[in-house]
Amino acid sequence: MLADELGLRLVRFLWCGNDGTIRAKASGRHGLMGRLQGGIGLTVAMQAMNGLDQLQTVDGMGPVGEVRIVPDLETFRALPYAPRAGAVLTDHMGLDGNPAPVCQRSCLKRMADRLAERDLVLRAAFENEFSLARAVDGSYEPVDSALCFSTIGMTTSQDYVDELVSSLAEQGIAVEQYYAEQGHGQQEISAPHAPAVQAADEQLLVRETIRGVAARQGLTASLAPKPWPDIAGNGCHIHFSLWEDERNRFFDASGEGGLSAEARSFLAGVLHHLPGLCALTAPSFNSYHRLVPQAWAGAFRCWGYDNREAPLRVASVLRGAEEHSTNAELKAADASCNPYLALAGVIAAGLDGVDQGRELPAPIAADPATMSEGERASRGIVRLPTTQNEALDALSEDDALRDALGSVLTEAYLAVRRSEWTVYSRGDAAFELQGHFAKY
Ligand code: GLU
Ligand code: MG
Repeated sequence: MLADELGLRLVRFLWCGNDGTIRAKASGRHGLMGRLQGGIGLTVAMQAMNGLDQLQTVDGMGPVGEVRIVPDLETFRALPYAPRAGAVLTDHMGLDGNPAPVCQRSCLKRMADRLAERDLVLRAAFENEFSLARAVDGSYEPVDSALCFSTIGMTTSQDYVDELVSSLAEQGIAVEQYYAEQGHGQQEISAPHAPAVQAADEQLLVRETIRGVAARQGLTASLAPKPWPDIAGNGCHIHFSLWEDERNRFFDASGEGGLSAEARSFLAGVLHHLPGLCALTAPSFNSYHRLVPQAWAGAFRCWGYDNREAPLRVASVLRGAEEHSTNAELKAADASCNPYLALAGVIAAGLDGVDQGRELPAPIAADPATMSEGERASRGIVRLPTTQNEALDALSEDDALRDALGSVLTEAYLAVRRSEWTVYSRGDAAFELQGHFAKY
């Protein structure tokens, strides 16, 4: 088998929990064939575990009972940054062989199926920003203090980035662009767009590779949304568009701004549901120290063409590739999200926009933070949630998003994330940093 040809000793069965943590159990070579088919047993409790490994009380997710983490063999990879190790992405399946109601990857598949009924595919790309740091005397220091897009920053991290890009290439994951971002030690890599489930699978592999390569080089890479209070935060902007085979249904050359009517309703849905969606796309306690005005993260609910203070930005097209490059960017997103849930939420919100015939308000061509409160009010611009708790309140009141997740997943998700709010809101900044820096 392929694992033998590649000399693998362990294959990691990966999943991402409600806390956004990527976890795994690995199979040895002995019994691997059986586990690739039947999965590995896992306690039902894991989906009620928060980002501090504190088990929350959720019905049916206690000490009794098992699911199987069953791999999608299409996702198999050898891991260049881990000796003789491979990985597969998994679904959480009940013992009856059906997807467990709490399975996030299955949730995204359900939403992709809803689109498929309309001959649509959501294609998405994640743009990961992250901080490269060294551990010094028990704290983390950025590897440089280089300026935005500075080639000095590029030079400082060139050996790391070379190994990162080659490790991704070996896993069949292309890199569109790389640069040293504004924050100290901050890097950004973007992936090409892919159908939603594949994009989310690869987002897990990219996060693993970013950290795995850093660890090999004696560094720490953090995808935490706000690794240091006074330095630019790490976004994970999500670019998306709707496709029918090779046709981009977001694109209409004669439509306003080059957008189809369908795209406008879909985006209106995303905008409408944005407060609750934030609980899925910017879901951590630490996320709300990034999602603030004038940080280019999109703190006020609005949309605009190439407006980097709008959480929903319609990106300008590339000349000669107008159809191919038509897409929207959700900036109110970071890599502490479970990418399956983030994309499931985007689809649910967008489809609700289409089904309700929602209309986009006027685009905003200014930084909303520079407007008076009255001006913002007259344009319907409101602040997005300012805390994890506010976002979770919005999610718990959002029927379209709750329906997309289903009741079991909704309850588990809210319990896990609310418990993190309870713990971190009582702690200090050092506790928050410790709880996010090395965990995302
Ligand atoms: N670092 C910013 C964020 O937190 C984004 C900067 C940019 O790429 O526009 O989202
Ligand atoms: Mg950036």
